[in-house]
Amino acid sequence: MAAQPVSRMLRRVLRSSVRSCSSGAPVTQPHPGEPSQPAVEPLSSQVPSGRRRFLREHAAPFSAFLTDSLGRHHSYLRISLTEKCNLRCQYCMPEDGVPLTPKADLLTTEEVLTLARLFVKEGVDKIRLTGGEPLVRPDVVDIVAQLHQLEGLRTIGITTNGISLARLLPQLQKAGLSAINISLDTLVPAKFEFIVRRKGFRKVMEGIHKAIELGYSPVKVNCVVMRGLNEDELPDFVALTEGLPLDVRFIEYMPFDGNKWNFRKMVSYKEMLDTLRQQWPELEKLPEEESSTAKAFKIPGFRGRVSFITSMSEHFCGTCNRLRITADGNLKVCLFGNSEVSLRDHLRAGASEEELLSVIGAAVGRKKRQHAGMFSISQMKNRPMILIDSDSGGLGCISNSPQMVLVPPVPAPPFE
Ligand code: SAM
Ligand code: SF4
Repeated sequence: MAAQPVSRMLRRVLRSSVRSCSSGAPVTQPHPGEPSQPAVEPLSSQVPSGRRRFLREHAAPFSAFLTDSLGRHHSYLRISLTEKCNLRCQYCMPEDGVPLTPKADLLTTEEVLTLARLFVKEGVDKIRLTGGEPLVRPDVVDIVAQLHQLEGLRTIGITTNGISLARLLPQLQKAGLSAINISLDTLVPAKFEFIVRRKGFRKVMEGIHKAIELGYSPVKVNCVVMRGLNEDELPDFVALTEGLPLDVRFIEYMPFDGNKWNFRKMVSYKEMLDTLRQQWPELEKLPEEESSTAKAFKIPGFRGRVSFITSMSEHFCGTCNRLRITADGNLKVCLFGNSEVSLRDHLRAGASEEELLSVIGAAVGRKKRQHAGMFSISQMKNRPMILIDSDSGGLGCISNSPQMVLVPPVPAPPFE
């Protein structure tokens, strides 16, 4: 009899229906129609903490295929749509770009959608499109529109350099794009050209304003902070949040310099915070959202907020709920792990849904508790743009050069 009040209460709390994933485990259904709205709030932030705890303890189990041995539920998938980019950021790409994978080896539109469909059926409720620069892919609007049809997908996000955003955003929003991250490392046009080795500052700013105008809130702005280059601009970025609904996210620079770490260029989260507190001692920390990789702060009275992505100084493996698919169809369960499995090859060999799921389940099951640590990774082969994603992980892009090897294990303290 004790089960009855529990199920009644659960029904009340959830209110929404429950659907089944193919593994047989029911997963919670989202509220309908949300992807067309800007910035959908996660369920976790919509319910008070007592109820949230109750849900965690009593809610239906998550897909076994997307749950790892530590019980982490992988409900967030990032898909890299391309390795191409129309910028050449110093910290990301060599001046001449990266050698491109032959087109035939990249996922087709249909393959992207087939994989997305499968993951969503299993309980993924957030997909972020990234790259390279996702907006250079000609079918990006179509992909968003088709993702929008997937029942259960609450959020469709994109991480972009903003160059083509003002032009494409009206179509993307109509197609169902619900969240946007725009990368911008400086507010000084000449410095912008220096960092990205291209023109385009005005276009990025137009993209940011277009996103605000179309109602996205917050519009996330990713700023990689590099010593000697833009750390003096932190207060200017924060000042933008006074009147605009921005979430300015300062990302700790992953200091690849050729094939060596260069910690001198990295500014840690603590240092950034100290700098900002000198000007705004009232800067207040906001409660941490579940699975968020960002530490969020706000200046009372300001419209927007400020966050820090502490990929270098404090990893967030414990709450990692992310999986990644590269542009050539490899599944990566950890950005810093070398192990990848080609879903594309299985798809093209005619694998059934069950077979694909068992491949995915095995990869997720092998996910480690945490990566080796940013300061002790001594050898890591990264392939170029196709690898990577971004947004909250910050470590979106570790694609400075093809076949990059981070050589010396770093015995020195992290911050010089
Ligand atoms: N082209 C898109 C863009 O720039 O937003 C999406 C892909 S980009 C690879 C994703 C994010 O990774 C960007 O916000 C970029 O600033 C960040 N990123 C790239 N290299 C980085 C590095 N070495 N350290 C920290 N963040 C980096
Ligand atoms: Fe392109 Fe983004 Fe890399 Fe810059 S960070 S080169 S915009 S992929």
